[in-house]
Amino acid sequence: MPRLAPYACDPDRSAGRRHPEAEPQGRNHFQRDRDRIVHCHAFRLLEYKTQVFINHEGDLFRTRLTHSIEVAQIARTIARNLELHEDLIEAISLAHDLGHTPFGHAGQDELNACMNEFAPDAGGFEHNLQSLRVVDELEERYAEFNGLNLCFETREGILKHCSARHAARLGDVGRRFIERRQPSLEAQVANLADEIAYNNHDIDDGLRSGLITIEQLLEVGIFARHHDAVVRRYPRLERRRLVGEIIRSMINTLVIDLTDTTRARLAELKPASLDDVRAAPTLASFSPEVRREADELKRFLMRNLYRHSRVMRMTGKARRIVRELFVAFRDEPRLLSGEYQRDEPVQQARAIADYIAGMTDRYAISEHRNLFQM
Ligand code: MG
Repeated sequence: MPRLAPYACDPDRSAGRRHPEAEPQGRNHFQRDRDRIVHCHAFRLLEYKTQVFINHEGDLFRTRLTHSIEVAQIARTIARNLELHEDLIEAISLAHDLGHTPFGHAGQDELNACMNEFAPDAGGFEHNLQSLRVVDELEERYAEFNGLNLCFETREGILKHCSARHAARLGDVGRRFIERRQPSLEAQVANLADEIAYNNHDIDDGLRSGLITIEQLLEVGIFARHHDAVVRRYPRLERRRLVGEIIRSMINTLVIDLTDTTRARLAELKPASLDDVRAAPTLASFSPEVRREADELKRFLMRNLYRHSRVMRMTGKARRIVRELFVAFRDEPRLLSGEYQRDEPVQQARAIADYIAGMTDRYAISEHRNLFQM
């Protein structure tokens, strides 16, 4: 194991698991968490869930699974350079999207709208809270507890954000949102690694799909800068390699900027322990210039890719499928298998949300067909 900084999370001093368990043999607590995540049901389903493009639109596009693996790779690199705990950051990265519905954000937004409309007391639906619910409650693999019984540090990292309304009922992992304290550095870095991964792979997928072009992207500062540098060095590069070179150098720049900026903040604020990290302002960050460039890129992707007419058509269909499934099950819970039927309406709504959230894109489409077509 590489060296661990005094401000890193230490598995031997973990705040513990919800259900007491014997010490792991031959691996540390965070490795055990990572291993449990890789073996769980929800992790395998990520392979068939949309990132931006629906799974059946093409074999080369990112899915939630490949996205999560890219996040873990980026996060581990940064963790090693900052002497953070690599196994913990890998566990957080691999689990961060476990609660995503089918059809990406469109699926989540519609499921949330349905919950608020038909079960206003149930507390809506949010993928982040659902990721925690998957690892705390929904996985059924162990004899002695529900969920995966992960360490506090892993669960804290999975719960990236949370409203005050939800924080109060979440106990230990909710407390920091009320006390306005920071999570571990591993959690802070994993969060930014997520952003580095999706900004870059969405450019790659966007270009491959033909929904956006290199010419359009040249209006984005960070892309133009790296594009020009690659073209200067390799003037006759074919398109596929050109895109590959631009993206790898953008990822590299962002990783180095995040590492250097965070290292400088650590040197300035000198946290001597995990408690110091929690009490300090956010330590992991990009430099102000790179933050501005990354925001510009995000705005470009929002305007030109996520709201592209072809993506919007998919989004519209996805929302209708989620809504029609939800309403059909709410009107007639006996359409559900017994394990999802409840006597009480709020619990019934939550069970329907769990069922729909657990579906892959193609399962949701086939379940919809099954309910609405003879
Ligand atoms: Mg993500």
